[in-house]
Amino acid sequence: MQSIDEARSLVMQQARPLPPAVFPLMSSVLGCVLAEDVVADIDMPPFDKAMMDGYAVRADDIQDGKAILAVAAEITAGDTAERPLQKGQAARIMTGAPIPAGSDAVVMMERTRPAEPGLVAIDDPSFRPGQNILPRGQEMRRGEVVVASGTVLRPQEFGLLAGVGRTAVRIHPQPTVAILATGNELVDVSSRPGPGQIRNSNGTMLVAQVSRGGGIPRHLGIARDDPGQLRSLIRDGLASDMLVLSGGVSAGDLDLVPGILQELGVTTHFHKVKMKPGKPVFFGTADRRLVFGLPGNPVSCFVCFELFVRPAIRALAGHKNAGPRLVRATLTEDFSYQSDRPTFHPARVTVEENGFSVRVCPWFGSADLRGILSANAFIVLPEGVAEHRAGAVFDVLLSDDLLF
Ligand code: AMP
Ligand code: MG
Repeated sequence: MQSIDEARSLVMQQARPLPPAVFPLMSSVLGCVLAEDVVADIDMPPFDKAMMDGYAVRADDIQDGKAILAVAAEITAGDTAERPLQKGQAARIMTGAPIPAGSDAVVMMERTRPAEPGLVAIDDPSFRPGQNILPRGQEMRRGEVVVASGTVLRPQEFGLLAGVGRTAVRIHPQPTVAILATGNELVDVSSRPGPGQIRNSNGTMLVAQVSRGGGIPRHLGIARDDPGQLRSLIRDGLASDMLVLSGGVSAGDLDLVPGILQELGVTTHFHKVKMKPGKPVFFGTADRRLVFGLPGNPVSCFVCFELFVRPAIRALAGHKNAGPRLVRATLTEDFSYQSDRPTFHPARVTVEENGFSVRVCPWFGSADLRGILSANAFIVLPEGVAEHRAGAVFDVLLSDDLLF
């Protein structure tokens, strides 16, 4: 039986980024990892740019922040000034417009007033040359790398990439993840379970976990605990970058999954990890494809996914910090719980002034999915210790993306 750390590193050794490919710069690549250095094709801004509505002036004309100037032009965004600004002249200018040649400052509208027709009075006590101008190339220069390979694409990267003319980018693709639930007791979610039956809720949950983790889910439905059916659906699943099975990995008579995976050429890297819940978890590979057999109990399935599968998806998608997202948090209330294995107990993390705090949530064990609805994390309780004291610091596996 593997330790959690050994198991994690066995997974990460096998989880290599997928070969890059070019995709349109659309919402389907949001959160993806860039696999090229993107270079600016122009200077930004492309011209010395007014940052305020007001008047472009020549600093030489301003004495102690004051001047009366002749209004020689009006320049709005999208225009260009036709003539350079002469001594004693100002140009009315709008935010985003290029300043006219000869001017070297912009006075905001609120510090000006119309004087006689055709004249403007400037009164700007804090005036300094260069004010309210963004010089050409200050944000970026043509030829400069503006978004580096390895960057995770957020909306602000989209904006910058669009600004340098990119409509497509080279990224690590999102892995495709096949999901297969196994078990004779399972019925489709849309039907009402008969005696001894339960709905395949893990399938739906795993689809959502795969999507949230950055993978593309492919739901294969239910396989009965029948070698023929398992074989054909597993073969189908092995066409994806990753195959995630639920159920059939424990020690029961009908836990056929590990045997059939081996028969189909999957190399076992571990089967069983010293943890609770999730002990029977299986991990193997077939060529570069990763195969996870998660225990069927819903909370075991959920925890094993967050701990092993989600980081693997992120690694295939090229993320350098693939997770899992473990933080240190201070327990706020005493808590008794004993286990012979490190235990992931549902918990709620909050962000306090001095860091993360955590309290445990009521929970009836690995079949109690409802018990984790109030949780946003799992506190890792060490094996063998029964009394956990307020003030002690624990590892905590975050399962929500945001804590507030
Ligand atoms: P197994 O890991 O196959 O021994 O399954 C353990 C238990 O998990 C089963 O008895 C079911 O109660 C539950 N279970 C298995 N598969 C699913 C599933 N797809 N959705 C919800 N619960 C499941
Ligand atoms: Mg089963």
